[in-house]
Amino acid sequence: MAQRSGKLTLYNTLGRETQIFEPLVPGRVGFYGCGPTVYNYAHIGNLRAYVTHDILTRTLRRMGYEVTHVMNITDVGHLSGDNDDGDDKMLKSAEERGKSVLEIADFYTGAFFDDAGRMNIERPTVVCKATAHVGEMIDLIRRIEANGCTYASGGNLYFDVSKFPSYGELAPLRRGDPNARARVRGDPNKRNPQDFVLWFTKSKFEGQALAWDSPWGRGYPGWHIECSAMSIKYLGEQFDIHAGGIDHVPIHHTNEIAQSEAATGKRPWVRFWVHNEFLVLDRGKMSKSSGGFITLRSLMDSGYEALDYRYFLLGGHYRSQLQFSWESLETARNARRSLAERIRALAAKAGPGGIGTLPGAPGLSEKAAGRLAAFDRALEDDLSSPRALAELWGLVRDPDIGPGEALACAFDMDRVLGLGLAALARAAFRGGDDPGGEREIEGLVAERAAAKKAKDYAKADSIRALLKERGVVLEDGPSGTSWRRGPPGGRAVTN
Ligand code: AMP
Ligand code: ZN
Repeated sequence: MAQRSGKLTLYNTLGRETQIFEPLVPGRVGFYGCGPTVYNYAHIGNLRAYVTHDILTRTLRRMGYEVTHVMNITDVGHLSGDNDDGDDKMLKSAEERGKSVLEIADFYTGAFFDDAGRMNIERPTVVCKATAHVGEMIDLIRRIEANGCTYASGGNLYFDVSKFPSYGELAPLRRGDPNARARVRGDPNKRNPQDFVLWFTKSKFEGQALAWDSPWGRGYPGWHIECSAMSIKYLGEQFDIHAGGIDHVPIHHTNEIAQSEAATGKRPWVRFWVHNEFLVLDRGKMSKSSGGFITLRSLMDSGYEALDYRYFLLGGHYRSQLQFSWESLETARNARRSLAERIRALAAKAGPGGIGTLPGAPGLSEKAAGRLAAFDRALEDDLSSPRALAELWGLVRDPDIGPGEALACAFDMDRVLGLGLAALARAAFRGGDDPGGEREIEGLVAERAAAKKAKDYAKADSIRALLKERGVVLEDGPSGTSWRRGPPGGRAVTN
């Protein structure tokens, strides 16, 4: 696809400002987004993170970039506290459910991609499991060690932040965090509160199921090292964009930067850091480990479609906190339904072969081109999905844009929004969804005929009035009743 002329601006957590995005290699983008820890279902807050990654990759692709999107699957090493404290999430889940860690990981990885598929989240270019990359992690730790940034203590190997002067650049406030010392009281092996484990040999968990031989003894990797090792393997020692939830700024991503740069000596490891704000509940934070969380499945069990939730998410900017409530999900569902109605009506008007000029082709009307340009500007302005959605609405409501052209532009916008608009229109062309409401009208006409036959004239008249309200005119003749919409050209039905 040809490169578009627009420039993407992104808020870069590294530097805390909005910057114009340029990839290291023209036309290509290497993007790593932290993936799920597969010890439980993803909650709807987690899905906000993945929809953000999806909007980012889709926007980049729409702009003509070739994107390599890498996502890890954490199936080892993630403790319930990001700072090496708490339980091993995978192990605890396996114990609670009476399954092996592998079974738990397989099950919840499958469940995660089912959810992602339902939400129209495109599958990343590379999906990589931590347990399949322990060799790469060991190699990376060796390099960190060779560069003098580690120490062994109490059976574990630690990263020594005092050997890495730029530690904490991503989260400057954390450097003087008065609570930091208190948080690590549990680990007397650390020289500095911000030091973190690269390799555990002294498992604090009895019966640790997953263990590997290493130069530091048999054990398992710390959580942060997996993202450094896998991103470097698939994207190189320096790459363009790294994303995750805002909670990852002070510890996980800060530690990833320290390890990667200490290993390779190259700075900056990643040029753009993109962080989504949290989805919150009216009663506070949603968290997977606290147990009180809402899944996509629970939304669907309450009668919502996965894409209602996607629509809800697109209505908020990824850098603003978004409050989830059933009322706001209901509002999103209603808005998506009316959007679907518009698409069906446009499809019915355009007819099967009626999709008009494709965006970018000569002959696109000025108005439609203007709508598309405004849509692009919205996304290029730090991925403003709410404004992009408003442009889609402006397009489908614009009386001066013909149905075929409006549909073509809507489908083009949907390459980023991912609301499944083309599927809706296809269903309309096939008649599967009663696109123009013909089947419903014919049903009412037949019902009126039956009422007349039964001499229930009041009912017959009320049906006629109802149809009139919808712009349908009935004409009774010797061979039955025909109906038409507004001006001539209606279809006849016999009853
Ligand atoms: P986890 O599976 O816990 O490693 O989290 C997966 C992703 O979801 C990470 O990028 C988190 O930062 C992100 N995340 C966790 N909770 C929320 C939330 N409530 N809202 C938005 N993103 C979240
Ligand atoms: Zn990560």
